[in-house]
Amino acid sequence: MAAIDGLPPLRDVIATHGLSAKKSMGQNFLLDLNLTAKIARAAGDVTGSDVLEVGPGPGGLTRGLLAEGARRVVAVEKDARCLPALAEISAAYPGRLNVVNGDALEVDWRALLTPPIKVVANLPYNVGTELLVRWLTPDVWPPQWDSLTLMFQKEVAERIVAKPGGKAYGRLAVLAQWRCDARIVMHLPPGAFTPPPKVSSAVVHLTALAEPKYPADPAVLSRVVAMAFNQRRKMLRSALKGLGADIEERILAAGLEPTDRAEQVPIEGFCALAREVAH
Ligand code: SAM
Repeated sequence: MAAIDGLPPLRDVIATHGLSAKKSMGQNFLLDLNLTAKIARAAGDVTGSDVLEVGPGPGGLTRGLLAEGARRVVAVEKDARCLPALAEISAAYPGRLNVVNGDALEVDWRALLTPPIKVVANLPYNVGTELLVRWLTPDVWPPQWDSLTLMFQKEVAERIVAKPGGKAYGRLAVLAQWRCDARIVMHLPPGAFTPPPKVSSAVVHLTALAEPKYPADPAVLSRVVAMAFNQRRKMLRSALKGLGADIEERILAAGLEPTDRAEQVPIEGFCALAREVAH
């Protein structure tokens, strides 16, 4: 393992601080600092940006981000056992690492960072999708963050970047791609992690667009898309029956066919339908 800083190798950090991985915390650690530096670089140029990291654990990715020149890293970690290891990183990078001991689902990170902001994380799988949905649905758009660079299990990553016409295409794809450019930038086998998870992983990079790709009210779009995919095998005219007696006319006015299934409808089509429904 090449040294990217003067700190000890991560295996030693884990042994010194007794950081045996806890399954309940979604702990699958990355111990190769070359790999964590590569993930940090996948976030683009971090110099001049504040970075929000969720779940730093023993700090491999945190060290990658700091070595790559992040202006400041705010790292939210639920497991207090990791704090002493993270304090050593703070000491090596004075004034650049702020560790918050808490649950990322509860911590209000917005007051802790100054734009430009990038979010970079090897997420705990049990809260990853929930956090992504929250980051993608802020009260106002554009959001406070410029980009999200996030590790997911491969199947979730594929759902985020999916195009119409396949099983992976659903609510998450529409939500992510309506207002972001989203792509998979790295694939990782189970063996990249300690302990290895059962599934493969992938890093997704999402860049926030200044404007949505197509106009639509976010709440209406979200409702239409949730209903359409809730019964994804049904034709739109029956899946969306709950939206009103005249739904077939609205589907046609949006340029879609009442016999289409959600899986076939591109984001543009859902936005057109949301505009018709909002009339
Ligand atoms: N970033 C480290 C790495 O790459 O080696 C650890 C990644 S591990 C997959 C997920 C980390 O998230 C763990 O350190 C775990 O303790 C932490 N975690 C789990 N649930 C969390 C939550 N709700 N809020 C904040 N951190 C959480």
